[in-house]
Amino acid sequence: MSINFSDIKIEVKGIKVDPKLFTFKFSCLCNGECCHYGVYADLKEYERIISIKDEIVELMDETQSTVVKDWFEDPIEDSDFDSGVAVGTQLVNGKCSFLDKAGLCVLQKLAMKKNLNKWEYKPYYCILFPLTIYEGILTIDDEHIDRLKYCNKYPVNGESIFEQCKEEIIFIFGEDGYETLLNHKKEILEKFNSSKENEA
Ligand code: SF4
Ligand code: SF4
Repeated sequence: MSINFSDIKIEVKGIKVDPKLFTFKFSCLCNGECCHYGVYADLKEYERIISIKDEIVELMDETQSTVVKDWFEDPIEDSDFDSGVAVGTQLVNGKCSFLDKAGLCVLQKLAMKKNLNKWEYKPYYCILFPLTIYEGILTIDDEHIDRLKYCNKYPVNGESIFEQCKEEIIFIFGEDGYETLLNHKKEILEKFNSSKENEA
């Protein structure tokens, strides 16, 4: 009998965690294709980005627009965001307005230039990808992965998305939360492997 993931309940610090994180194989190998569709930022993240616009402009290249009004779409109401308002980044030359020609996010470049945490200015959903939080569950953004041409099409190292995204998971839950999940991993993998043996 195959494992029924929906029967397994894992929760860390008030966020449910999809057990598929421990079995889904993932490799991050391309040059920022996930940024070709832009992202929704919370209104507060948008305001923070606008407040450092001059520093961002300095790091942009000729494939990007230095006209600030080209960076974002109009705000929309969205209860999935803390402030209740989401603001999408615009596409410029077929990629997020903040992605440079080398496939680097200028928000991250700026944070690193200032010796801040590299994710200081990035929208939360950019940090999480290829994970996402959907209806209160930390899960895999497989819809977005599937529509991308290169993302995870040839997973090579046999690692799970849980291992590949360790940094992101620690960002969400902290080191202690990650340790809690490591304990769950052992239990889930035992169940998963025995279900595969039964199927064989
Ligand atoms: S997450 Fe996927 S699309 Fe984004 S850089 Fe990694 S492999 Fe490419
Ligand atoms: S803000 Fe940065 S990380 Fe997010 S989609 Fe745009 S370029 Fe990618």
